[in-house]
Amino acid sequence: MGLDEYRRKRREGATNEPFPDELAVPGETRVGAFVVHLHAATRLHYDLRVEAGGALASFAVPHGPSLVPLDKRLAVHTEDHPLEYLAFEGIIPEGQYGAGAMIAWDRGVVEYLEGPSEEGLTSGKLDMILRGHKLRGRFALVRTKGPRGAREAKQESWLLIKKRDAHATSRDVVAEEPRSVLSGLTVDELASARAIGDGLVERARRELGGRGSVSDEAPALAPTRAVSAPPADALFDPLLAGVRVLATREGDLVRLLAPRADGPDDDVAAFYPEIVRALRALVVERVALDGRLVAFDRAGYPSLALLARRAARMGEGDVHAAAVAAPVELVATDLLRLGDADTRPLPFASRRALLSRLVPERGVVRASEPLEGPIAPILAFAREHGIDAITANRKDAAYGEPTELVATGAEAERATVDHGRGAGASLRRVTVTNRAKVFFPERSLTKGDLCDYYAAIAPVMLPYLEDRPVILVRYPDGIDGKSFFQWNVPVGMPAWVKTLEIDDDKGGKRGFLVDDAATLLYLANLACIPIHVLACRAASLDRADFFTIDFDLKQASLAHAITLARALKELLDAIGLPGFPKTSGQTGLHVLVPLGRDAHGFDTARTLADLLGRLLVERHPDIATMERVVGKRGARVYVDTGQTGPSRAIVAPYSVRAVPAATVSMPLRWEELAPGLDPRAFDLASAPGRVARDGDPMAALLTARPDVPTAIARLAEIVSGRGA
Ligand code: MN
Repeated sequence: MGLDEYRRKRREGATNEPFPDELAVPGETRVGAFVVHLHAATRLHYDLRVEAGGALASFAVPHGPSLVPLDKRLAVHTEDHPLEYLAFEGIIPEGQYGAGAMIAWDRGVVEYLEGPSEEGLTSGKLDMILRGHKLRGRFALVRTKGPRGAREAKQESWLLIKKRDAHATSRDVVAEEPRSVLSGLTVDELASARAIGDGLVERARRELGGRGSVSDEAPALAPTRAVSAPPADALFDPLLAGVRVLATREGDLVRLLAPRADGPDDDVAAFYPEIVRALRALVVERVALDGRLVAFDRAGYPSLALLARRAARMGEGDVHAAAVAAPVELVATDLLRLGDADTRPLPFASRRALLSRLVPERGVVRASEPLEGPIAPILAFAREHGIDAITANRKDAAYGEPTELVATGAEAERATVDHGRGAGASLRRVTVTNRAKVFFPERSLTKGDLCDYYAAIAPVMLPYLEDRPVILVRYPDGIDGKSFFQWNVPVGMPAWVKTLEIDDDKGGKRGFLVDDAATLLYLANLACIPIHVLACRAASLDRADFFTIDFDLKQASLAHAITLARALKELLDAIGLPGFPKTSGQTGLHVLVPLGRDAHGFDTARTLADLLGRLLVERHPDIATMERVVGKRGARVYVDTGQTGPSRAIVAPYSVRAVPAATVSMPLRWEELAPGLDPRAFDLASAPGRVARDGDPMAALLTARPDVPTAIARLAEIVSGRGA
């Protein structure tokens, strides 16, 4: 087992597939996860992936799995895939390995019957039970004699065979159930997901006929009331043992709000990453669903006790193991919001019709199948299955008018599911992987040292990151290895990580929003070494709240940069603007000048920076230049005023640089800009101690409210020769 071949075949940063640092903890796998992808590559095929050795052993199955007993399906053993691939669905870009659309056709839990899967893969026989949404029951994977050398090339032929049991059937499961268990789309539809979503929202708007424009306020769950006789002309849903939630999605931000009797709702999304992933896969970016989180036992029955165990085990931090031990579905019974349409005024029957188009019939998030007809047989059916109540909704009722509860007479399962108050926050844990990997060979500093640094510096660094776009560069093998930009949040990121949508000419990016220490540590664990920030806030991407003047040395001396920075300070004092110096983390100096929040466009910021830069060069022509061509600068300091703009970023205060000395960009007090200043003194080993001792000299950057119009007027006077 290992991901070497997976990595060799793919280009990190060029494909949208997951690229974890390393395997999860390998060990003996007796129970694990599985996924079946339907992959429209050069040839359409299925990929069965079963957990083994902390990864997913993968088999290409040209004709797909079969539920027909003793049907033999060729399964070609291919390279292992990372566990993160369980959540993958998407279109692998043109030109990359395996280019084409790939849906998660089925997923679930696999139990190995004869020893751990690692042994079975070696011996050539895996006897297993699959508990998926579509594939259930006993299967065998058996190695056949492949062509010479096939084993080394990982191209061995195996056969996938359904064993005889209660789940065997003569129906053709791949033909009858072609849809994804995440998005509900077919593999052909994946490319037009957005258009399909738009069409669905349009349909809701048409049916609303002008009613139901959506507000920013999240809808609330309607109460239910117990009745003895159900209303006429109703649709019935079995009330599955579970926890009722309001599930909302706004882009990648998913909430699962469980009402509490004694206070505000609990957001339990962090407990159920597979539900979060499935909601993110839906064709509409903005939805609100009424539904229940339900854990199913090995026989497929809803179990409140199992859900309670899942919630308790998640608290221990092993998300994957908890999800394998107790898979959970979100069974949706109502649709409250679809895109910009508030669907609550629609008749229940219409809402359900929209819901069944939005979420799959079989999947991680699925629509409850409503029952219709006389109540007596429905109650009898429910009782038989241990369901203690059914809900009844009149077909023509708006949301909130009638859900009624009818008891079936079955004994109710008793268990309390305790997600714990504020449990979402306590689940924001990051396990640092590959701690010992050397990232800065010259200093013998490791990935663990990098992660420890960002964890330690988080309290002073976070204020400069939160609420702004960040630009990340990953160095999975340290500063001497390859590096790449992480523009979008990766597949398989934890449910609690917040994201930010940034429009650009390439159709937009979904970046990280770094607003807590766990997210910063998560980025460090992704091997992000430098962190760059834009001078704007998420809510006002066209407004600058500071600008930067960069004193770039190249062949020039630090002493000259210090002279220029101090001259800039005098100019700033004269026009009434504060300024905050820091080392760039390499050789130069930055001075950051606050503009106050949301008040000024980037044009103003850039004009101020340029004017100040030109004045400095005019007054110090022997040591300063704004010459862009490096060769023409000579030994003069380059006064760079071009680092402020809607798509320009500077290295964040306290960011580590990807340089051999592992230096950081350190905020300074003005009096430190003096002979003897050594930017190399600030590195990831020394910086936390300095901050603990002296605090953050730049903190006022974020709270300053300078009088910018007056500053501009004074600067204009100075430029025209009338001022100081
Ligand atoms: Mn494939």
